[in-house]
Amino acid sequence: MRFVSTRSGAVRVGFGEAMLAGLAGDGGLFVPETFPRFDAASFSPDASMAEVGERVLWPFLEGDPLQAHLAEMCREAFDFPVPLVSLEPGLSVLELFHGPTAAFKDVGARFLAALVSRASLAGATVLVATSGDTGGAVAAAFHGKPGVRVCILFPKGRISPLQERQLTTWGGNVQALAVDGTFDDCQRLVKDALRAPGGRMLLSANSISMGRILPQVVYYARASVQHRARERAEPTFVVPSGNLGNAVAALWAKACGFPIASVVMASNANRAIVEYVEHGTRGERPTVPTLANAMDVGTPSNLERLAALLPERERLRASVRALSVSDEEIRQTIRAQAWGHVWCPHTATAVHAVKTLGLEHAVMVATAHPAKFKEVVEPLIGRVVPLPPQLEAIARKTAVAEALEPALDALLRRL
Ligand SMILES: *Cc1c(COP(=O)(O)O)cnc(C)c1O
Repeated sequence: MRFVSTRSGAVRVGFGEAMLAGLAGDGGLFVPETFPRFDAASFSPDASMAEVGERVLWPFLEGDPLQAHLAEMCREAFDFPVPLVSLEPGLSVLELFHGPTAAFKDVGARFLAALVSRASLAGATVLVATSGDTGGAVAAAFHGKPGVRVCILFPKGRISPLQERQLTTWGGNVQALAVDGTFDDCQRLVKDALRAPGGRMLLSANSISMGRILPQVVYYARASVQHRARERAEPTFVVPSGNLGNAVAALWAKACGFPIASVVMASNANRAIVEYVEHGTRGERPTVPTLANAMDVGTPSNLERLAALLPERERLRASVRALSVSDEEIRQTIRAQAWGHVWCPHTATAVHAVKTLGLEHAVMVATAHPAKFKEVVEPLIGRVVPLPPQLEAIARKTAVAEALEPALDALLRRL
């Protein structure tokens, strides 16, 4: 399988190179040149994530030495439950928050860690800038992997206490740097370090990485097969969206022939996705802070992948809908506790979308456990949300972070 840039078909590379490069040389994002077609009826609804992963990802790794390790990597990465829970006839929720850091980013981060630790990159350092959730998922996934170091940059004092513990309690091969600056400073430092000369082996673990997006196709494939087996219909997936990697993975699963009717992208007050789907307009926008902060993205990178997949507006509008959900609507949704569930602020955008659009056959995607955002959720529902065991264990450990001034030479000295 070859991967091409969203900007020109002239850039063509194999899986390993696409994963390591992050961005294509022309500044575009890598996408699969073609999509394999699967006979969805040949998948059992009882198959595990590892079993589905091995079949679905196999053609994408064709021609790459990592393909030989695929079964083992799937068993290692997909080692927590991803249940499709029925709420009422025709409607279920896909719970993606049972991994080590209780958010869906664990799926991509764990698969990326399985890949990198086998890709003959001994001595490599994985760099990641985080505004909260990503760094924790990457740290948990790479912790203890031989031959790889992780260095996480976070804006000091600007992330929640629980998020900070998820970055700073690992030790071993995970180093956390508290940057005296903003998230944008962290991101700039990572980009500059990746470009700096000096022969360091540095990799980025950001969310546009192919190694993080492709494994997300697996849970959409599996859940669509399960939904059809139970309900005799193709579901619409309703995906809380920010940088749009998760929703693009759902559309890639559809392109592979899995029974998916359409995809609804639920965003917060950041309107870039809605503007693109409704009017075809794209451009730089400032980020609006909201209660669903992991979706606070002004200019989503993966709009470029969406545009590459569905370039004609008619086809786009047939497969995709988008809506923007305000903080007030998020609050009301959390308060209402629909179907007797406590929803995290991100998942609440999907719940609101299902209620508003009146969808017949839908799977809402739950991207995080509500206890991760207890500061928002608990005052609204008037009671405590117990931490799941994996977060409780993290909350008990000792935190270690080194301070870093926001300057490239200071970072390079640490590496
Ligand atoms: C990252 C994140 C999102 C947004 O996912 P994208 O792939 O960036 O669209 C939604 N919810 C949670 C909890 C997240 O951490």
